[in-house]
Amino acid sequence: MRKLPFLFVAGAVTAVVAAGAGAWHVFGPGDVQADAKAKNTKGELTTASIDTRWPKPASNAPAEPAPRPQPVAAAPSAAPMQAQPVAEKRQAYVKPACNNPNALGVSRTVQIDTTGGPGLGMSQYRDYDFLQPGEVVLTFDDGPWPVTTPAVLNALAAQCVQAVFFPIGKHSTWHPAVLKQVLAAGHSVGTHTWSHQNLASKTPQEAKDEIERGISAITLMAGQPLSPFFRFPQLRQNAELKAYLAERNIAAFSIDIDSEDFRIHKADKLVASMMEKLKKKGKGILLMHDLHKWSAAAVPDLLAQLKAGGYKIVHIRAKDTLSTLPQYDAAIAAELQPVRTSNARPISSVIQTVD
Ligand SMILES: [Zn+2]
Repeated sequence: MRKLPFLFVAGAVTAVVAAGAGAWHVFGPGDVQADAKAKNTKGELTTASIDTRWPKPASNAPAEPAPRPQPVAAAPSAAPMQAQPVAEKRQAYVKPACNNPNALGVSRTVQIDTTGGPGLGMSQYRDYDFLQPGEVVLTFDDGPWPVTTPAVLNALAAQCVQAVFFPIGKHSTWHPAVLKQVLAAGHSVGTHTWSHQNLASKTPQEAKDEIERGISAITLMAGQPLSPFFRFPQLRQNAELKAYLAERNIAAFSIDIDSEDFRIHKADKLVASMMEKLKKKGKGILLMHDLHKWSAAAVPDLLAQLKAGGYKIVHIRAKDTLSTLPQYDAAIAAELQPVRTSNARPISSVIQTVD
């Protein structure tokens, strides 16, 4: 994860004025910084100081991820890897066993019918205020990542808590085994684009490609259907993109409480900050990033403090599974397939042992 240069020409962006001013609301100081509004000139629906929201790489992260995606099937033949379109269907769920009688646990599991693309998270969407006072939903973005994502999973498992994860497509192709660990632990897994671009700065087609490539890649790497949940990178969106998600029956997840773990790099300070914001707001969807080592380190103490404070964890599940689009499945599968050219010569005529 590194900061990508924003090379996009502002004039190329189709400015879509956010429909319904009530859909966007600025919370008080501490939640949303005022400068976001000043910069919000393109009809984006945003929260916070978006320019600072790009997650910085964790210091324990490799400088450069593995350059080659890991093919799922090691088929030696020239036949392209077949992507299996995932049919929309009801999502099966078996609640994981809990062996810790003193665990925080999940107090309530809610099922979301994503038909029509509902928006969740009161900082950007105001239709569904479904959490009761004291209820918290844990969400983790930008994985899967080695070390840090498994550390988060361990901390959640120790307290028998389920969360919602929003992995990035590229990261999923680099670390599919970690992605599968997240799913195996019973968490809900949505998507967070192919490469974490600011979609509000893209053309509609580019933005759609980012969304769909992420969905197809993560589904392919997961080897199973995902939840039709999506979170916009940096929470940047516009009405047209939200409408696209609605068309695809994908719920858009915003937030209620930002951990701001992009700037708070000490676990104890991060926990103190999150608890302070939670105390002020009383409930909400909490945003963290499972690719930061300080965020992973903060989870055990966060859960302990949530339990001590009498907070309740709500787990969000989807009623139906996420469907992929076949053309994007095929494109992603072709990209991940090692290249074989049709005019390749026999190996012995190209490569010979000479010494
Ligand atoms: Zn993100």
